[in-house]
Amino acid sequence: MTSEPRVVIITGGSRGLGAGLVQSYLDSGDRVATCSRSGTPQVETWQDDPDTSDRFLFVPADLSKSADAETFVKAVVDRWGQVDVLVNNAGVARDGVLGLTSDDDIDTVIDLNLKGTLYMSRLVSRRMLVRKRGSIVNISSIVGRSGYRGLAVYSATKAAQEGLTRALARELGSSGITVNAIAPGYLRTEMSHGLDEAQLQQIVRRTPAGRLGDPEDVARACQFLTDPRNNYMTGQVLVIDGGLTG
Ligand code: NAP
Repeated sequence: MTSEPRVVIITGGSRGLGAGLVQSYLDSGDRVATCSRSGTPQVETWQDDPDTSDRFLFVPADLSKSADAETFVKAVVDRWGQVDVLVNNAGVARDGVLGLTSDDDIDTVIDLNLKGTLYMSRLVSRRMLVRKRGSIVNISSIVGRSGYRGLAVYSATKAAQEGLTRALARELGSSGITVNAIAPGYLRTEMSHGLDEAQLQQIVRRTPAGRLGDPEDVARACQFLTDPRNNYMTGQVLVIDGGLTG
């Protein structure tokens, strides 16, 4: 007997790490929903490919707005009736020393990275509580632990996501729902474009694995954390950084 494909939500899956996560779950045969403010050629490919078109849903949404998060989750539940996995991946960074950071930049980063994660976790955990099953993974960052010059607001939101992970794991554990976080090191995505080549090379030199991370490195860990057989590990943060902060 084959089990039903899972329903997986990956936020911010139009590019970067999120796109790698979407691909990984589509490759596992799951039904995958993602959102971002705008579509990309990658999103169109998943929508058009006969192998994925009926297992893939894209909803344009700005997750810093509670109403958009609600519209997104409703669209997923209308289509597939449930949610098995939520990966809070959508995130944004604004570079600059705190003393020169504008109110707008502080709001942008907190509204998506922290409030967006809270909105999505609130909406999805309600559904998971009814079924008494599910997994939530929050994509944090090593800078939430180590800090990084010029990323104070971003680092604060990533540390907050880890606090949320631990609290929610306690809140949902007795209902069979796991909540974990992944703290990736530096990945070559649009977000790391703010780092110049010299900074990237320095990071590579200091990384025992001798390279930057790939979305696939994180996707493998995420698959492990959301495997329904792996239901005794919760409230943890898995660091995937090639040994950089080990
Ligand atoms: P990215 O390439 O910039 O992609 C971010 C994704 O989030 C895009 O799909 C983007 O699409 C979406 N997004 C941005 N603002 C949004 C909003 N308001 N509402 C909904 N979606 C929104 O970033 P990434 O490097 O893949 O980062 C993904 C996650 O990994 C983030 O949480 C980040 O903090 C974390 N991370 C990244 C690194 C790294 O080195 N790159 C390291 C550690 C952790 P739109 O712009 O169209 O909305």
